[in-house]
Amino acid sequence: MNNHNDQTRAQVIQFCASIGKNPLLVQGAGGNVSWKDSGTLWIKASGTWLAEADQRNIFVPVNLQALQHAIQQRNFSVTPQLIGTYELKPSIETLLHALMPQPVVIHLHAIEILAHLVRADCEKTLIAAQNDSLSCVLVAYHKPGQELAQAVYDALMQKQDARVVFLKNHGVVIGGSSIADVVATLNTLIAMLQTPVAALDHARHIPVSRHPDYVPIQDPTLHELATHSALFDRLASDWALYPDHVVFLGTQAHTYTNWEQLETLFTANPHEKPELIFIRDYGVFVTRTFNIAKQAQLRCYYDVLTRQQTDTVLASLHHNQIAALLDWDAEKYRMRLADTL
Ligand SMILES: [Zn+2]
Repeated sequence: MNNHNDQTRAQVIQFCASIGKNPLLVQGAGGNVSWKDSGTLWIKASGTWLAEADQRNIFVPVNLQALQHAIQQRNFSVTPQLIGTYELKPSIETLLHALMPQPVVIHLHAIEILAHLVRADCEKTLIAAQNDSLSCVLVAYHKPGQELAQAVYDALMQKQDARVVFLKNHGVVIGGSSIADVVATLNTLIAMLQTPVAALDHARHIPVSRHPDYVPIQDPTLHELATHSALFDRLASDWALYPDHVVFLGTQAHTYTNWEQLETLFTANPHEKPELIFIRDYGVFVTRTFNIAKQAQLRCYYDVLTRQQTDTVLASLHHNQIAALLDWDAEKYRMRLADTL
């Protein structure tokens, strides 16, 4: 431990705690931040929330040189070695941070950027956004972890000065010399890519549940996902837009035209009660097991959708990509999909 490291740590903690409370930048346990201190990579621990950075230790140290050596050998399945004993595990994106050459690296699912990365034509916009002071690469969708790290490594081989990596259907990685440097890049990107939010007839009240197992979602604006027809239509056509959404909220939206249809389906199949349901023109309801991490993901989805025009074509993840995310084999996934038809 040294003074420089202490100073960086203090700046990182302050940054994480502040962005962690902004749902347009961080949703639940999503996103991660790291810094490099000689042979050590300090990385956010898996499952911890950036918002908690100033309340508990969320960073763990791993052996950076061992990771860099493995990466040079194109060994992307290497397991990061913790320095010391920690109960927490390093983030699954540790390799992604290790392969970026910059001392400070942030990875976020920032809404203003993600809203572009889910569009079918995002390449055009993002390449156009590039200028002399911003060197960016766009990487196609890959499963988070080993596959994504390898794809980013290959992209950086083609463009070694890149300090912004756009991850299609996922988020952004920004490298910089310091926290102030990455914050400046992040702010530039957000200012450049900001989309006006669609004007909706905001729901003024929280609707009443008509089923004893369900309660209305408490964020009143989220009911627009059911009451606004363009948003409701997206639930069927554009549900699986990025990994955390699928992992937290499932492979598809459970939509019903009314409560009567829901009752009929539940009577026919009493064991299939989804945690999250959408009743057309009425509202969004959840079981009592629906936690705040899931609610944060639903808010993220709403924020991404309300930044699209009605005719914007979005690119959803394919069935095999969804299956891989959940470590399902494609066949099991296909059968499960078929079961719900
Ligand atoms: Zn991510």
